[in-house]
Amino acid sequence: MLKRTHDCGSLRIEDAGKTVTLAGWVNSYRDHGGVIFIDLRDREGLTQVVFHPEHADAHKLASSLRDEDVVAVGGTCMKREAGMENPKLPTGAIELDALHVEILNKAQTPPFRPFDAPKVSEDKRLKYRYLDMRSGRMQHILRVRHRVTKIVRDYFDAHGFYEIETPVLCRSTPEGARDYLVPSRLAPGSFYALPQSPQLFKQVLMASGVERYLQIAKCFRDEDPRADRQAEFTQIDVEMSFVEQEDVMAMTEGMVRRVWKEILDVDVPPVRRMGYAEAVGRYGSDRPDLRFALELVDVSDIAKQTDFKVFTGTLEKGGLVKAIRVPGGGSLSRKQTDELAEWVKQFGAGGLPVTKIEGGKLTTGISKFLEPVTAPLIEKLGAADGDLICFGVDAKSTVVHRVLGELRLRLARELGLIDKSRWEWVWVVDFPAVEWNDEQKRWDSLHHPFTAPFAEDLDKLASDPASVRSQAYDLVVNGVELGGGSIRIHRPEVQQKVFSLLGIDEEAAKAKFGFLLDALRYGAPPHGGLAFGLDRMVMLLTGTDSIRDVIAFPKTQMGADLMTEAPAPVDDAQLRELSLRVALATKKPAAV
Ligand code: ASP
Repeated sequence: MLKRTHDCGSLRIEDAGKTVTLAGWVNSYRDHGGVIFIDLRDREGLTQVVFHPEHADAHKLASSLRDEDVVAVGGTCMKREAGMENPKLPTGAIELDALHVEILNKAQTPPFRPFDAPKVSEDKRLKYRYLDMRSGRMQHILRVRHRVTKIVRDYFDAHGFYEIETPVLCRSTPEGARDYLVPSRLAPGSFYALPQSPQLFKQVLMASGVERYLQIAKCFRDEDPRADRQAEFTQIDVEMSFVEQEDVMAMTEGMVRRVWKEILDVDVPPVRRMGYAEAVGRYGSDRPDLRFALELVDVSDIAKQTDFKVFTGTLEKGGLVKAIRVPGGGSLSRKQTDELAEWVKQFGAGGLPVTKIEGGKLTTGISKFLEPVTAPLIEKLGAADGDLICFGVDAKSTVVHRVLGELRLRLARELGLIDKSRWEWVWVVDFPAVEWNDEQKRWDSLHHPFTAPFAEDLDKLASDPASVRSQAYDLVVNGVELGGGSIRIHRPEVQQKVFSLLGIDEEAAKAKFGFLLDALRYGAPPHGGLAFGLDRMVMLLTGTDSIRDVIAFPKTQMGADLMTEAPAPVDDAQLRELSLRVALATKKPAAV
């Protein structure tokens, strides 16, 4: 076999005259009346190869080449003729004048060419993932992902973290999603769960004296299909002993700073903090996108002075009226604002009162009700001509915030108010420890049950749970929650109190988390940590909005791997070994 001397992305004008051998895939083929050109591709790039009829053997073989054949070509690196350079290619100043060619593998006509992948349906790309991944775009993403994990490992290694693997076959873990279950052959009728995160193991590692732990960990959550979810995803999982909240935040912020610098050459400034209440109050979300304003402003006191029943009736019920001013939103038609009013209903709104400002006056929408409060309203919102003002009105503040929070994102996107070149970072802190689950009539933890409340709030756990804040923190960038974590409870009696609040009695706690409670009892240090979504991080760094693009072998929204056709039925013999029998309502397994 011809031995490769260079990759397809590295030859430059300085290499002209050298004898070289390249190997790769035929990216394209052109026959220019006797002279044959191919673009040869490997993961590093493309090089033009020329076959002249004078080199008869090579030329003859070249004439049989087709897309995606795998070849090795030896010859001379030549400066391209003047005017024939391709400035778009790093190798565009040279070409390889081929003397020998060896066909390493003929390819059947592929269902699509790698560089055509963006025009191909995603199902087809996923079925023939190896063709898809040969494209420059996918190779770039794979490279960035590799580099990110390398930078992360080096960073934490330099700070004394040990990388430790935790089990994939384990007991159910408590992140709140549905578990994937694996039947046990040796204990018929019993099941392992795949970890939703290594949460409990990393806490036990702290009790084990490890002090600083890192893992690039696969996590599994059987959640309902959603575009940005994957059944299995990867976390950068971190835990530290003898630390407080600020220590974990500083350590992990440093990691993000290193990654953004090395991958994008972007400097991450010291990240500001924002309390949960402020984030939700001003931006309608606990992961606020701070690249644009459209802030939520409480106008209840102004709304109270109007005769608009929707406002006054809601306020009498103890509700809330908030408004956002949308610069340039005055250009939206009645039809468009009516459509928005329909759209917000999915978030619980009854409707969406709006008005516009023209010539210093409120016009359209509910302007006639607002006339007496025009001046204070315009002043409070800092509104100007051409603006649209939208109101969120509801007896429940959660509804007002959700509605205006979603509206804010949609309008910013549609009106082009987002500066895509900006990175806006924020640590969201001071989360409530628990929230009331109205459907199930119980308290749920906002993070997970192992998150430590602030010491000064502990005595309110029983009397006023809603006011208890937890030592939890989320790192948010451009409205995306990149990571989240907390200081953990390290005293068994506090853990038991929190369990009780969540309706997990002593017996249930012992059955589910007995090992953790034991570990806490035998001397666990104060500890805390955080987990970053690696997939999301790579999405941000490569500018893709599909999580499937950053995972080599992803699953569809329905959880199917279209290449291997998993999940799939299994043999009766396998089931027998597991002491299982499948009893489905329909005979056939559901199509995925
Ligand atoms: N285990 C948590 C999660 O997966 C993260 C953490 O608290 O470290 O969301």
